[in-house]
Amino acid sequence: MTRVICKNGSYDYQTLKPTIFDMLTDLGGNLINRQTSVLIKPNLLMPAKPEYCILTHPFVVKAVAEYVLDKGGHPLIADSPAMGSFKKIKKDGGYSEALEDLDVDIKAFDTTVALDIGRPFGKIEVAREAVESDVIINLPKLKTHTGMLLSLGVKNLFGCIVGLKKPEWHLKSGVDREMFARLLVQIYHTINPSITLVDGIQALQGQGPGKSGVPRHLGILVGGRDAFAVDMAICSMLGIKPDELPTLEAAKKLGMLDTEVEFEGEFNAVGDFRVPMLAPLTFGPKPVHKFMRKHLLQRPEADDLLCQLCGECWQYCPAKAITPNKEQIDFDFDVCIRCYCCIEICPHGALHTTETLPGKIMRKLSILK
Ligand code: SF4
Ligand code: SF4
Repeated sequence: MTRVICKNGSYDYQTLKPTIFDMLTDLGGNLINRQTSVLIKPNLLMPAKPEYCILTHPFVVKAVAEYVLDKGGHPLIADSPAMGSFKKIKKDGGYSEALEDLDVDIKAFDTTVALDIGRPFGKIEVAREAVESDVIINLPKLKTHTGMLLSLGVKNLFGCIVGLKKPEWHLKSGVDREMFARLLVQIYHTINPSITLVDGIQALQGQGPGKSGVPRHLGILVGGRDAFAVDMAICSMLGIKPDELPTLEAAKKLGMLDTEVEFEGEFNAVGDFRVPMLAPLTFGPKPVHKFMRKHLLQRPEADDLLCQLCGECWQYCPAKAITPNKEQIDFDFDVCIRCYCCIEICPHGALHTTETLPGKIMRKLSILK
């Protein structure tokens, strides 16, 4: 049996710190001692101020770092951002200021080791610290995700894939959401963080996980030793069936879900949480997948008034489906794999999904979910 704890919280540091200390002690205080190296893995997707609610709040990260130091452990805070300089993430995200009095390093993952995550993926390159640290504390942000519905505990470990390897993996598995979910599950399962603590105090709803999402106050911290159970608990609070979350569905198929979960604390239902609408990436016989993806699936679309032609999306797009012209960007929907990475990383919130006309008709006819 695994436990999940939910506590009410706010970013007032005087109350946040004891709440986080209590939760970490409850979940695994005995894991950390004088010799322990501890990787703290927040969500540091891109440069963004705390009020955008894209990144794990700096005070949550600070409280966890203080806890590790208090126990005599050696903390390192690290992630592999999808875009932007790490210096800017530290500054804009409020980490430089929040952590200035603590003896803790915060950095981008830079070296990798090959880790066998099991078939069909085999060995993949992951951040060295994720493999070599004694303890990992996984600190996701509670937010929506246009490709995977929600970004929670399991998805957060994808940040251990370093830099440019991320879009490569999106390209290899992004054409098939089920396969991408399986990749995320196997990465999580192999890295196996000791504790997952989700920052859901100010969450992100709508077209997350980047600047197209809309902040939503939930006032909760949700933690456990098993991120599958944590993600399941959050789904149930948000009124989402576990099998609607691709990572939980993949974990179930792989026999990794512990069905006996004990819930403790303030598990109150959240009304009207806005999630992005997902269409299945592949369905029907294989020969028609390409046709269906092109004509039926939601497409990325730019708001030309918001687009600054900054170049982040066309540099990141794993399929090289975006080209700039003088005043706007153009998509090549023949090669776009609908991974929605561009929406995730756009620093100006200029991208969103839009339904194709045939897709809309099909959905209305209830052929699509
Ligand atoms: S859509 Fe966003 S990421 Fe792409 S060029 Fe425009 S502002 Fe930059
Ligand atoms: S255009 Fe966007 S959705 Fe399409 S492949 Fe590129 S990053 Fe993915």
